[in-house]
Amino acid sequence: MTSPACQWVQGILTAYLDGELKPSTAAAVRRHLEHCEACRARAELLQETWDLLDAPTPAVPAGFTSRMMGKIVEEQALERLEARLRPHRLRRRIFASAAAIAAGLLFGLALRTWAVRLPDPGSPVEREVSACLTFVEDLDVFDDQGLDLVEVVEAWDRLEAEGRPEEGES
Ligand SMILES: [Zn+2]
Repeated sequence: MTSPACQWVQGILTAYLDGELKPSTAAAVRRHLEHCEACRARAELLQETWDLLDAPTPAVPAGFTSRMMGKIVEEQALERLEARLRPHRLRRRIFASAAAIAAGLLFGLALRTWAVRLPDPGSPVEREVSACLTFVEDLDVFDDQGLDLVEVVEAWDRLEAEGRPEEGES
């Protein structure tokens, strides 16, 4: 607990350190500081803080401000770019998924065309759906491996266009 004497000293410590007190008051404070460790510690801390504040500011290297401003502008630009790329990536994913489903449907239709002559066609709708799902799952695997979904879909489309039998052909 702080004694009334400590409270009094700490209340006028700033003025004491600044040398603004009457000589008699300053002497009383000095006497208190000689035997009160808590107030002495506070006085020393105050003095150190002021010394630091009074110390001349270290010289800033030439061009520091413009370099800092350049960095800030750069980072802001990067953030803006990122924000613009994020929905773009999402659109690409949606496009790739839609393309995958379309390609899957086409593949299913082609499969059905080819499967007409097979002995057991099973349920064609079921097989189309399962083919589509497998294709979409495959695309997720491609995506996990960092492959470009759009490229995969385009390659698939090309393969399919090359492989699909012409209409009228048997
Ligand atoms: Zn004290």
